[in-house]
Amino acid sequence: MVDLQSQYQKIKETVDKSIQEVLNSSAYINGPYVKEFQTDLEKYLDVKHVIPCANGTDALQIAMMGLGLQPGDEVITADFTFAATVEVIGLLNLTPVLVDVEPDSFNIDIDALKNAITPKTKAIVPVHLFGQVANMEAILEIAKEHNLFVIEDNAQAIGANYTFKDGSKKKAGTIGDVGTTSFFPSKNLGCYGDGGAIFTNDDDLAHMIRGIVNHGMYKRYYHDVVGVNSRLDSIQAAVLKTKLPLLDEYCNARRKAAQFYNNAFANNTNIIAPTTSSCGQICETCDCHVFHQYTLQITNGKRDELHKHLLDNGIANAIYYPVPLHKQKAYADERYNEDDFKVTNQLVETVISLPMHTELDKEQLEFITKTINDFLS
Ligand SMILES: *Cc1c(COP(=O)(O)O)cnc(C)c1O
Repeated sequence: MVDLQSQYQKIKETVDKSIQEVLNSSAYINGPYVKEFQTDLEKYLDVKHVIPCANGTDALQIAMMGLGLQPGDEVITADFTFAATVEVIGLLNLTPVLVDVEPDSFNIDIDALKNAITPKTKAIVPVHLFGQVANMEAILEIAKEHNLFVIEDNAQAIGANYTFKDGSKKKAGTIGDVGTTSFFPSKNLGCYGDGGAIFTNDDDLAHMIRGIVNHGMYKRYYHDVVGVNSRLDSIQAAVLKTKLPLLDEYCNARRKAAQFYNNAFANNTNIIAPTTSSCGQICETCDCHVFHQYTLQITNGKRDELHKHLLDNGIANAIYYPVPLHKQKAYADERYNEDDFKVTNQLVETVISLPMHTELDKEQLEFITKTINDFLS
């Protein structure tokens, strides 16, 4: 699905040098690279505070702790996402409220979100799934009306832009009260181990979160709140500092591959190819989507056969996600009504994700698309 080795070979010299520097300095934890990467990322995202942490799941948990959410508070999120989002809601004894997604963007459905709000609702967690920013303008309006926090799970869409109706733009993850991301190796900005970060423009929240990631300490050995131990280590920060200047180029390479795929599938009536919410297709300027995944919907019922056929032909592919969260043992709840999950229940039967990374060449794309079109003609 990804080719991290070819990508590494192109930046090997700089990355190796920066890792060697960390080794020579022995500043393995909280070394200079952590602070430098933090500052670089604040600049790139145009956000006041970036707080690095150990991974994207911690980032979500710490964001919710920082906002002071309390057991019993309801947190609304999408039914169609990676489990980390709902897992931390459960871990903190908050009440997850899963809602359906839109059939085109796979992102949280605005009407379903509105219908799920109760007097106990405290926060909304939009997930910018597969790299496309959710409908943030509508989400912010709802949040304002009901006095809710907005926590953006931006693990899959770092580098994407969101354009408001007035033409102004913001980076994904910096639009709500707080945003979180993951630097897991296969993410769009990946390190060579685990890593994550939290973003906010709120000074007080940033201060609170800086303590939480460090055992609740605001002064050494004085623990004001219950915290966690969640750090980005210096070696990962060195890798990320080297890769951050390449992020836009990486996003463009993904978008180009997505365009190639879409053109190749344009006349195949058994396939619904992804679209962007900005232009309804994929164009050069579709910066609301950074294609963490390239995900098709197969409409003739042959998704599982295609999955096998591609594997037999040496083509990687994956089903993200095969089970909606409301049907997972850990998160099922009798409150849920199957009629409220028409889209996710269908998507789990039809979606298939193709290889998507920065190193796909024309020959590979031609082979993949020809194999699929031949099979589904
Ligand atoms: C990857 C991912 C996470 C978790 O990130 P980790 O760094 O693996 O903990 C959370 N949410 C979404 C949507 C993700 O894709």
